[in-house]
Amino acid sequence: APASVQVKLVLLGEAAVGKSSVVLRFVQNEFQENKEPTIGAAFLTQKCRLEDRVLRYEIWDTAGQERFHSLAPMYYRNAQAAVVVYDVTKAVSLDKAKSWVKELQRQANPNIVIALAGNKVDLVNSTSSPAAGVSSDAEDEPDDATATPNESSTGAAESESLRQVPREEAQAYATEAGLLFFETSAKTGEGVVELFTEIAKKIPIE
Ligand code: GDP
Ligand code: MG
Repeated sequence: APASVQVKLVLLGEAAVGKSSVVLRFVQNEFQENKEPTIGAAFLTQKCRLEDRVLRYEIWDTAGQERFHSLAPMYYRNAQAAVVVYDVTKAVSLDKAKSWVKELQRQANPNIVIALAGNKVDLVNSTSSPAAGVSSDAEDEPDDATATPNESSTGAAESESLRQVPREEAQAYATEAGLLFFETSAKTGEGVVELFTEIAKKIPIE
């Protein structure tokens, strides 16, 4: 049987970006629409199978509130991995994420694997709208003198306008800072298993 390694992982990020929800999705494959805020921190474990080994994540899900900030070093000290979460519909949450990354890069284990997760991507995905991605196809049609403004693109435009952090901007920052990067949805599960699996692959074999 492959050896099972324990990996201590900490979640950091502004309150309400969905840290606990991402963990709940990963550990129990569930989602709660009105998740109660975390007090202090919660501890959960979950196995992660790679081709050649199994890791056992020991997950510290911290509270995002400023009044708990002084407790954070207790959770990231000795952590081998960190997931710093922001909300793609809230630009200031990326600023907060960047400040957590800075703190980790200064104070945490120098070999820590850090991943940046842009959560709630379900709120900006326009896949539920039939107009998704077709807003410019009117250009292919012959001009119709009676044409009204293209209303079919409204749905896509509306859901895309919820996005406050362009994927490319976050990706560029992550690359520059040496972080793994994923957009995730705890609600649909998009990107969640991938996030934890890619982190696992970067944990050095002892
Ligand atoms: P935390 O404070 O960072 O742990 O955030 P929570 O996990 O408590 O989530 C805060 C709120 O956002 C809750 O109402 C969640 O149901 C909601 N939420 C979390 N993740 C997502 C997501 O991916 N999509 C959507 N639409 N809502 C989410
Ligand atoms: Mg929480």
